[in-house]
Amino acid sequence: MRDIAMEWSTKMTDYQVNDWLVAAEVENVLHSASDDEGRIREILQKSRELKGLNMEEVATLCHISSPELTEALFDTARYVKEQIYGHRMVLFAPLYISNVCGNECSYCAFSSSNKSLKRTALDMEAIKRDTSELIEQGHKRLLMVAGEGYAASRGGFQYVLDAIASIYEVTEKVGNIRRVNVNLAPLHVDEFRLLKEAGIGTFQLFQETYHRDTYASVHLSGKKRDFDWRASALDRAMEAGIDDVGMGILFGLHDWRFEILSLMQHIRHLEDKFGVGCHTISVPRMEPADGSAYSLAPSAPVSDDDFKKIIAILRLAVPYTGIILSTRESAAIRRECYALGVSQISAGSRTNPGGYSEGETEAGQFQLGDHRSLEEVVAELASMGFIPSFCTACYRLGRTGQDFMDLAKPGLIKLKCDPNAVTTFQEYLLDFASDTARATGEQAINKELDCMGEKARKSSEKMLIKIRSGKRDVFC
Ligand code: SAM
Ligand code: SF4
Repeated sequence: MRDIAMEWSTKMTDYQVNDWLVAAEVENVLHSASDDEGRIREILQKSRELKGLNMEEVATLCHISSPELTEALFDTARYVKEQIYGHRMVLFAPLYISNVCGNECSYCAFSSSNKSLKRTALDMEAIKRDTSELIEQGHKRLLMVAGEGYAASRGGFQYVLDAIASIYEVTEKVGNIRRVNVNLAPLHVDEFRLLKEAGIGTFQLFQETYHRDTYASVHLSGKKRDFDWRASALDRAMEAGIDDVGMGILFGLHDWRFEILSLMQHIRHLEDKFGVGCHTISVPRMEPADGSAYSLAPSAPVSDDDFKKIIAILRLAVPYTGIILSTRESAAIRRECYALGVSQISAGSRTNPGGYSEGETEAGQFQLGDHRSLEEVVAELASMGFIPSFCTACYRLGRTGQDFMDLAKPGLIKLKCDPNAVTTFQEYLLDFASDTARATGEQAINKELDCMGEKARKSSEKMLIKIRSGKRDVFC
């Protein structure tokens, strides 16, 4: 009897997060941070050293309100983004395999309380059909997404593993999916190990809000009510050997300043415990969702101006962490945000399972802001001076977690990312683009080669020769 009690108490303490997630520290640092112009400019200057910022510095930037200082913040963010990420922008698409969910989240159309939603958990053939569609569009990198509810009739958690295997199995004449990232509910360490063995890239999990009372007020029933279980999930993923993890906040639930400082605590905790923080940060902002009155009037809506500030501040705070912007945002906002720090975007997305082969239906998770196809987004990126990248090299060469950061921090990763961006873009242009789009894209590639240092240019040119002569999947 005593053993069982002990085992239970160990389990309980295993995933409590109070030692690193300390709301009082966040409130205190926010309250005491200066809003002095001189101090703000000092921090912006320091950000240009590309070493990141501490909590006090982030809190100070959160107080920026004047148009002049906001522009200075954006200017610094553009500088940091350009120094580290150059012109490249990585593209991916979400693949929703199931909208079945046992949780009641007030803001989501998949909430178990939404009785009018048509529920679907795609079978393996349907998953392969959607995968084929995405491959035919030119995608190489997917984010597999599901509600929290893996039906026993479909094999429970094994369903997720089978889905990943099915995606990797699909090979079309024009290629295959080379990296599957996942956005799933929190798992046990053993399940995370199985996910790693299945060959996932990044494991993404959004805390939604780090504010406990707000969290309790919008997660009404189901496993997701357990705040600590969710906040400790990335620890378990890392314990299981998944060293590329993605964090996120659903902006609109609670004050954004509190959220990004808490996110800093989360990153600091992973860095202290595992030597590496998160690989990416996603910045989903609340969108209207079917059946959710809350999503239409969230408690702490974030304006477009604040949204841009959030991206810029995160860019300065953690310069080497990717920032992901989804099609929740409109094309216009996306355009404004790219240069402020975004390194990855989705394109041509559907959030209803089966959406790529059957079209967009009302079974989606929320309303999308950007409905353009991958082709349109790629063309626009190139016209704006970006190099659309379909690169998946790091993960396939084992450059993940600490290994990735060891290359990124001294600026060496550029010697890999820049060549891989132009070569994967060239591959896309040859296999999927119209003649006109190809000509414009190749002009962008030539311009990019001119901007590169000698080492990166030589390596790009070598790989471009191979791609242009018909070889595929060339990377360094
Ligand atoms: N069901 C899993 C979970 O909740 O962790 C997997 C992810 S869920 C399908 C993907 C994410 O969509 C959620 O983490 C949440 O941040 C976001 N989301 C839900 N409803 C949203 C809405 N109305 N607007 C924008 N994003 C939303
Ligand atoms: Fe389910 Fe995730 Fe939507 Fe919540 S956010 S209802 S857990 S799919």
